[in-house]
Amino acid sequence: MSFSIDVRQELARVIPGARCCRIAELSAFYELAGFLLGTDNQVLDFNNSSPVVARKILLLLKGLYPELSTQVLVSKSRSRRAQLCTVRVLGRAGAGQVYQDFKDQNVLGKLGIPRKKCCRRAYLRGAFLSSGSITNPERAYHLEISTEQTSLAEKILEIIASLGLEAGVTQRKGSLVVYIKDGSQIVTMLNLMGAHNNLLRFENVRVMKDMRNQVNRLVNCETANVDKTVKAAMDQIEDIQTIAATIGLEELPPKLQEVALVRLENPYASLQEIGELMTPKMSKSGVNYRFAQIREKTRQIDKLTTKY
Ligand SMILES: [Zn+2]
Repeated sequence: MSFSIDVRQELARVIPGARCCRIAELSAFYELAGFLLGTDNQVLDFNNSSPVVARKILLLLKGLYPELSTQVLVSKSRSRRAQLCTVRVLGRAGAGQVYQDFKDQNVLGKLGIPRKKCCRRAYLRGAFLSSGSITNPERAYHLEISTEQTSLAEKILEIIASLGLEAGVTQRKGSLVVYIKDGSQIVTMLNLMGAHNNLLRFENVRVMKDMRNQVNRLVNCETANVDKTVKAAMDQIEDIQTIAATIGLEELPPKLQEVALVRLENPYASLQEIGELMTPKMSKSGVNYRFAQIREKTRQIDKLTTKY
């Protein structure tokens, strides 16, 4: 099962206790995928592709309006193999009552934005359950809610911002997609919506990824150091070969001859290891100094050869 489905399954089981939050969440379901139908508004529909979410919508409705007459319809959507679940509120009075509550100024303030924080969280949960998705964190950090209505996209953006998060918006196939790409912000969003189990899963992946990145950085750093050592050794060997090919190694003072021979026999050894192989043993800086002298000698030779 995809991570997105898991999050939806979890959120579908979160039933807010307060009336205000129930109305706010239902209003999100209605605004993103609902319709008021019939010439006289006899029917109010909530659509969703998931039976678990449809069950939640039904529970929210029945909790608020026990007398409500409802119907659940399941149909195959034409374009995709996915099914479409419709929770239908029947009768003008019932549909009207639910619809009127979506205009309740005590719950939903200016532009329909929920007044209280608890209701904003509920609204986002409803919006996500209607048309949201989240990418598996192993692949990427991405959570989105899409809608065809500009005003709705703006509203969702504003609610997200009011909760201290930063979302972006982009267009895709005629829809507006409100998205969050930052890992820690997605964690906060999951927390606000109430997906606590999947939040932990998300965090575990994030910690593992972070650790892998750190290990990779260390390995790269180590490789860089090894590269430097190898490069230095190659330079030294080149110097020694230049001397051997021109004046001859035997022209070097015995101390330099010795270190040059040890280097030729141990091309991959570090300065410290070279020092260990000398008799008597030498410090790293001592070895380094001798190679500096060899380098100096090579420079003199280079000067001479370029002169003539
Ligand atoms: Zn509330």
